[in-house]
Amino acid sequence: MLDTLSAQAPDALLALIKMHAADSRDDKIDLGVGVYRTNEGATPVFRAIKQAERKLLDVQDSKSYLGPEGDGGFVKALMPYIFGEGSPLASRIEGMQTPGGTGAVRLAVALAVKAGVKRIFLGVPSWPNHAQILEDVGVEVVTFNHASEDGTADLAAVLGAIRDAKGDGAVLLHGCCHNPTGIDYTDTQWAAIADAFAETGLLPILDIAYQGLGQGMEEDVAGVRAVLAKVPEALIAYSCDKNFGLYRDRVGAFYMMAREEGQLAAIASNANALARANWSMPPDHGGAAVRLLLEDEGMTSTWLEELDEMRTRMRRVRDRLGAADNEVPGLGLAALAEQNGLFAMLPLTKDQIASLREDHAIYMAGSGRINVAGLHAGNIDKFIAALGDVTKG
Ligand code: PMP
Repeated sequence: MLDTLSAQAPDALLALIKMHAADSRDDKIDLGVGVYRTNEGATPVFRAIKQAERKLLDVQDSKSYLGPEGDGGFVKALMPYIFGEGSPLASRIEGMQTPGGTGAVRLAVALAVKAGVKRIFLGVPSWPNHAQILEDVGVEVVTFNHASEDGTADLAAVLGAIRDAKGDGAVLLHGCCHNPTGIDYTDTQWAAIADAFAETGLLPILDIAYQGLGQGMEEDVAGVRAVLAKVPEALIAYSCDKNFGLYRDRVGAFYMMAREEGQLAAIASNANALARANWSMPPDHGGAAVRLLLEDEGMTSTWLEELDEMRTRMRRVRDRLGAADNEVPGLGLAALAEQNGLFAMLPLTKDQIASLREDHAIYMAGSGRINVAGLHAGNIDKFIAALGDVTKG
């Protein structure tokens, strides 16, 4: 039976990690894998998380099962950050813990399909796993352009998608720090998107994976909040893996906003059943640490300071890349200073990307995506010079 299975293409990014690890050049640069890095190139555990984990070790007195919804305190503690302190919407929102943002996206898509959604509209390019999840759940995917040629978000395309999806469709949008382009909707664009959702009564699926890493904790969810304020229903996927640095601990949450509070129990019971069939229960450790962190004022301010440091550092890298627009014309580097988060796309050819790797030991995805957090004071000049080298006529 098993011999009927044909080999699947290896994950391109994982292959890149292996190639980078095998490269013995001292000045190699890894812009592939999507994790935050410090000025020294490290991805350390947050100080606030270490503190919370120490406390968890002391206070946790059982590891007995919690249930498919996971740690309710964790799910509630995140809500003011996502929906706003004292949000009037809170009574229409129910949440549950998930294995990472990936688990939350999976639940959002599967629940939408269970509720009758037949087509999901997705701006491309997108995080590759979006398409894989949609395919695995077995829903029709309709793509639209995420970005315009000029490096800004294509508002006409998303409004067109919302119009076309009317009836049996849903539209999946990145809340902030778009992966892979770094191109987010402006406040004005979000307002138009919110109006379009409201007019069509369409179900928004909003994926927030990088809150706090773009413009700020509040700024990064302003668009999502603008949509939620206008629509009757929405599904929200959230990841704590970047903004709490918990990647391998797999910490995420899934929120359902219902038309009326009274409908929440039925909706959440369906999400619970889906979680039960997929992973039964989410892993506890990371979510419990985030709960302890958010329940403590001192740890919370340490965490917010750490996030500020990360965001400021990435803005500095983006500013330096933007300022290099004159040094390396033709790549649209100026736009990177306006974009958000870990990622940006460079319009490099396959040969140029190969030359960066082979001649300059610079590793980036074949799509042209770079992780800007892989750059720092010690390697950014080399990177800009290498871009100049591979693009010179
Ligand atoms: N959504 C987007 C847009 C992402 O970029 C990612 C992570 N790369 C996720 C969801 C999932 O994150 P997690 O690692 O928490 O599963």
